Amino acid sequence: MKAVSVKLEGIVKRFGKVVAVERADLELPAGALVTLLGPSGCGKTTILRMVAGLERPSEGRILIGGEDVTRLPAYLRDITMVFQSYALFPHLNVFENIAYGLKVQRRPQAEVRERVAEVVGQVGLGGLEERPVAALSGGQQQRVALARSLVMQPRVLLFDEPLSNLDAKLRKHVREEIREIQQQLGITTLYVTHDQEEAMAISDLVVVMSKGKIEQKGDPRTLYTQPQSRFVADFIGSANFVEGSYSGGEVNVAGYRFPHRQDLAPGDVTVMVRPEAIHVSDSGVGLEGTLHSVAFLGARTEFSVDTVVGRLEGVIAGNAPELPGKGARVRVRFAPQGVYLLER
Ligand code: ADP
Ligand code: MG
Repeated sequence: MKAVSVKLEGIVKRFGKVVAVERADLELPAGALVTLLGPSGCGKTTILRMVAGLERPSEGRILIGGEDVTRLPAYLRDITMVFQSYALFPHLNVFENIAYGLKVQRRPQAEVRERVAEVVGQVGLGGLEERPVAALSGGQQQRVALARSLVMQPRVLLFDEPLSNLDAKLRKHVREEIREIQQQLGITTLYVTHDQEEAMAISDLVVVMSKGKIEQKGDPRTLYTQPQSRFVADFIGSANFVEGSYSGGEVNVAGYRFPHRQDLAPGDVTVMVRPEAIHVSDSGVGLEGTLHSVAFLGARTEFSVDTVVGRLEGVIAGNAPELPGKGARVRVRFAPQGVYLLER
């Protein structure tokens, strides 16, 4: 099937006095996986439900494959949704759960068998067709939910926090499976999560939302290196924020000057510094500081250092033998690739 694009134009959704979504403009390129990322209550599910046709926008238009579907009912949109609570039928087996939608459509038995067999292969459930879903692991249940969506051959696939019921290790595994299948089939996908790592790991485009508004959209790398607001910088990874000024390709933080180029008028700025860009040494240029804590965590070492501009959190890969002990007087420098300036 040919992949389609999805477009949201000036979408607003009000529930009485609550503005759940405030003027959202968004385009999902055909075949892309786009993630809505944001804290609970920011409007992610509401957007998903409007794309599915389960909720009517208060304002704006939704286009699928260039066609205006704003007033089209859900069952005519060729869209399926995978939920966080899988909503499987516990008394039915794997085959019956996956075949359910096709049976409702009264498809011929031979077609049902063929299409179920195909998706069972795609999601790796071969041999489990007769198993009651209640006897499956969480990861397997998630695959049944995905297969049940895929068997309907949707033009657009929607996921609403599909991994919330799985433990951390399994979440990582299943998200990679979802991404792999999505890329193989080339289905345009809108995926909702509040987990930034999950969003970054699987998405072509991440849309960061806060309080019903789209804060920023971009590929994971751009969002991480060039966040346009403190909210995005904080939500995508972690960040230190210090006050400084910018002029002529140079940043000044409490007298510590370092070169940095950004398309920005000279003036006061908030300097965002990623933890991996906090470099300490025992001498040389940089902010004066005192090591406040050092914690070896296996694959990385986290530390914090007190300076005139406040406590800075840093991280080094490995066991960081070069890091002096707690209480040591140090110099702190900012590595250029982990610095970004926000207007103040
Ligand atoms: P998210 O999925 O990001 O957690 P939602 O889209 O579910 O957020 O909700 C966004 C906002 O809209 C919240 O303030 C929520 O309480 C409100 N909301 C969602 N659905 C309804 C509804 N049917 N009636 C009233 N308020 C709603
Ligand atoms: Mg939600």
